[in-house]
Amino acid sequence: MIFDGHSDILTALTRFVQKGEKQPFTDHYLQAFVQGQVEGAIFVLWADPAQKLPLTEQIAQQLQALHHLQKEEHVLQLILGQKDLELAMAQGNRYCLLGAEGLDGYPQEEATIDWLYQQGVRHVGLTWNYANQFAAGVLDYGGLTALGKRAVKRIQQSAMLLDISHLNDASTADVLRLAQGPILASHSNCRRLCRHPRNLTDDQIKAVAATGGVVGINSYPLFIAETKQQQNLHHLADHIVHMADLAGVEAVGFGFDFNYWDTAADAVILPDLHQYSQIPRLLELLKQRGFHDSELQQICHGNFLRLLREVLA
Ligand SMILES: [Zn+2]
Repeated sequence: MIFDGHSDILTALTRFVQKGEKQPFTDHYLQAFVQGQVEGAIFVLWADPAQKLPLTEQIAQQLQALHHLQKEEHVLQLILGQKDLELAMAQGNRYCLLGAEGLDGYPQEEATIDWLYQQGVRHVGLTWNYANQFAAGVLDYGGLTALGKRAVKRIQQSAMLLDISHLNDASTADVLRLAQGPILASHSNCRRLCRHPRNLTDDQIKAVAATGGVVGINSYPLFIAETKQQQNLHHLADHIVHMADLAGVEAVGFGFDFNYWDTAADAVILPDLHQYSQIPRLLELLKQRGFHDSELQQICHGNFLRLLREVLA
């Protein structure tokens, strides 16, 4: 079975719900979840700064879409704590955790963490690509603010996953210095193999692993290779091999980051891996690279489950 550490599916579900569709997850996505044997995922709330609609409105609509999914479809169990997780596992139910991909669009204060928890959010990244009152993202300068440092503490004390994937190097260093428990990088690859600021340096990968954390491998082409010819499944496998060699197979998971937000016909996707039904091809390739079944199980979901069992209350 597969756990996806980063899914933007709420963006798409929100659009369908607003068009009046009654069961958009079932009608558009369930089959791919089944074919890809995806048991669970982190569904993030994310407000697109390029949209006209205020960020707070976008977040509110996505929360409504999640609510709709819970109420109308009954095909995914929302995980709020360890008990929910064990129940879902025992019953073979598909499940999701709600995440916040950056704290833009929320009040920039410590109490926001508590509010998110009350909304069912169990995963937080402090910012998206830019700087906010908490931290600086990969396209901006500076590290954690004093508020950001307090937020790190609050998130970890609140039994929520703390995600560094969108942070710049200075903010990442601050988080790793302050971390009191496992840290997640939910959707980032190796900067050694593809020099993109969204990817992690070898030292950052090792530091995340040292906390007992996980790095989710990302299928977004620009994070796989710098040239278009190399943006393929083989090079994605290279990232997995490199990460496992460097930090141990225990540190590697998936955070596919499939495109649900860019509806343009020429949206940037990896042809060989842009939906869950294509996952078996990646697993076949990893077998050829020498990963044993038990190691693949860890990468596919075991490492994320370990993390969730350790972090959730
Ligand atoms: Zn992201």
